[in-house]
Amino acid sequence: MPTIVHIGFGSNMGDRTGNCRAALKYLDKSSAAEVVKVSSLYLTEPVGFKEQDWFINGAAEISTGLSSLDFLGLLLETENKMGRKRVLRWGPRIIDLDILFFGDEIISSKDLVVPHIFLQDRRFVLEPLFEIAPDKIHPVFGKTVAELLDSLPPEGEKVEKLETGWWDE
Ligand code: AMP
Repeated sequence: MPTIVHIGFGSNMGDRTGNCRAALKYLDKSSAAEVVKVSSLYLTEPVGFKEQDWFINGAAEISTGLSSLDFLGLLLETENKMGRKRVLRWGPRIIDLDILFFGDEIISSKDLVVPHIFLQDRRFVLEPLFEIAPDKIHPVFGKTVAELLDSLPPEGEKVEKLETGWWDE
C-alpha cells in the first residue's frame, strides 16, 4: 500500500518558482513517487537569518511506496541534483524539501523527525498545507492542520499567497 506523504518546499535563490517546479517534476518522474496535489505558491519572509531574499514556498501531497528513510533519500537526492550546497544553516537555498507528514507515522531518529519538528510554528508551512490538507490530523497533537493554523499568533513572518498559476497538471 502506498503512503500519502505531505512535503513542504521552498527556494530563495535564482528562479525561485522554476526551482520549485523542477524539484516537484523530478520527484514526479521518479518511479517511486507520484505528485497528487500541489498548493499555490506563497511569497514568505525569511525566518531566522533576515539578510536574504524572501522565499517562495508551497506544499504538495505525494504518494509513494518507499519507506520514510528511502523517501528522505529521494528528497536529498533531488536537492543535490539541483546543486544545493549547505553553507549557512538558515541561509539562502536553491531548494529545500521537508517531509511534513509521512502518513500517520511518528518518527524520531537521528536523521528524521516526522511530523516535521517546526510544522506547527510556521505560517509558511501551514498556509500552503491548509490549502491541500486542511483536515489532516497531526498524529502527535491530535489537531487538524486547520486548527494548528488557527492557533498561530497573528504577528510573525509575513506570508503572501500568489495568485499566478504555476503547476499545470
Ligand atoms: P535542512 O536542509 O537544513 O532542512 O536539513 C536537512 C536534514 O534534516 C536532512 O539531511 C535530514 O536528515 C534532517 N531531517 C530531519 N527531519 C526531517 C524531515 N522531516 N524532513 C526533511 N529532513 C529532515
